[in-house]
Amino acid sequence: MRAASRTSPTPRTRHHRPAVRRLPKRLDCLVVGAGPAGIGTALALSVLPQVSIGVVERGEIGQTFADWPDKQRFLTPSFTGNGFGATDLNAIHPETSPAFSLGVDYPDGAQYARYLAAVAQHFEVPVSTGTEVTAVRADGQAFRVDTSRGPIRARTLVWAGGEFTEPTAPAVTNAALAVHSSDSRAWQAPAHSDRLVVIGGYESGIDLACHHVQRGSRVTVLDHQHPWNAGAGSDPSYQLAPRTRQRLDRAMGTGRLKLARGRAASIEQDRNGYLVRTTGGARHPSSAQPVLATGFGPGLGPVAGLFARRSDGWPLLTADDESTVTPGLFLNGPALRHDDLRFCFVYKFRQRYAQIARTIGDRFSRDTSGLEYWREAGMWTDDLSCCGVSCAC
Ligand SMILES: Cc1cc2nc3c(=O)[nH]c(=O)nc-3n(C[C@H](O)[C@H](O)[C@H](O)COP(=O)(O)OP(=O)(O)OC[C@H]3O[C@@H](n4cnc5c(N)ncnc54)[C@H](O)[C@@H]3O)c2cc1C
Repeated sequence: MRAASRTSPTPRTRHHRPAVRRLPKRLDCLVVGAGPAGIGTALALSVLPQVSIGVVERGEIGQTFADWPDKQRFLTPSFTGNGFGATDLNAIHPETSPAFSLGVDYPDGAQYARYLAAVAQHFEVPVSTGTEVTAVRADGQAFRVDTSRGPIRARTLVWAGGEFTEPTAPAVTNAALAVHSSDSRAWQAPAHSDRLVVIGGYESGIDLACHHVQRGSRVTVLDHQHPWNAGAGSDPSYQLAPRTRQRLDRAMGTGRLKLARGRAASIEQDRNGYLVRTTGGARHPSSAQPVLATGFGPGLGPVAGLFARRSDGWPLLTADDESTVTPGLFLNGPALRHDDLRFCFVYKFRQRYAQIARTIGDRFSRDTSGLEYWREAGMWTDDLSCCGVSCAC
């Protein structure tokens, strides 16, 4: 692992811990999931003196990224701005940069998984891979976490299980005839010049559509909210990223991409393949299985019942990203929401690694001053009112 150099300052209270596959049966803090949310939070927690931590991961480190379809790449660029206080957007620790260690600006999934594994190894994060959490119980004092390698008792728990376990399907009749964008089959079909309907026109829908247009297919993207035209604001959680917009322009230039406004109502199979009908009565033929690029739910798995929900169904959190109904249970990752703020990119949810670590450190009366390093690196936002998202130009 080549860590990006910084001109100032070096971490003051980093505690190196040996990498392990089996964790102690009792921990001060257990993190579930070894993606960027889990490894990043564990790194911040590891600066707390005398706080035992561990990470459990059902696959390998960065499993979700390792599972990404070959053609999928990051849409947030990586760049080694670390030394000048502009930490690489996709970095999970201030001293690292995927651009530096991978030598690419838009990593693919396999590359980013390599970066995560290298960071975990470099900083000796104790990760038990091949360990699935199957059930979690809270008794007020601690959590009993049942895993495929036996139970672990943890005083605090950080859920960082990601969103990929919960692909969402829209209320469309026969939605099961379609394939979700997270399924690698969505990237393989169809053959050259076939017609394909993609339901959902935000990042993953446009990404897929551009991929298939590039392969020679004719693609219709159907979305009633036409996010490709979203006007106001500069938050990429509501706007297509610049790289996606450039790809979209190129795909439109081929004449093989159609962006259609409409809400999908049903999918049927006919002798030519499939037919997607909209609520307005429009018909969109698809010779291959239509694709649902309709996003993901919070993916809370065995802790789903330990969070209250907002009116929109996302988990309700305190200002410290803790469950409002289960003290000691924290959340990091793309399911984080505070009012209208969505933390669905690495550069957003990483702002909360130190917040969770400080809250846990304060609760155990530990010295949290080492976390100021995260703030100096621009990787800690504890005042969310500062997350203005409108650029002047
Ligand atoms: C198509 C797509 C493209 C994206 N592109 C970008 C991008 O360009 N830039 C960006 O910043 N963000 C991007 N994101 C958003 C976000 O960064 C990713 O979703 C990222 O994977 C979230 O990180 P995570 O650590 O929360 O989840 P994950 O990376 O999914 O990690 C969660 C881990 O938890 C494990 N796990 C889950 N359940 C259990 C369990 N019960 N027991 C044990 N382990 C478990 C999983 O195996 C997995 O390894 C994208 C998201 C999607 C869907």
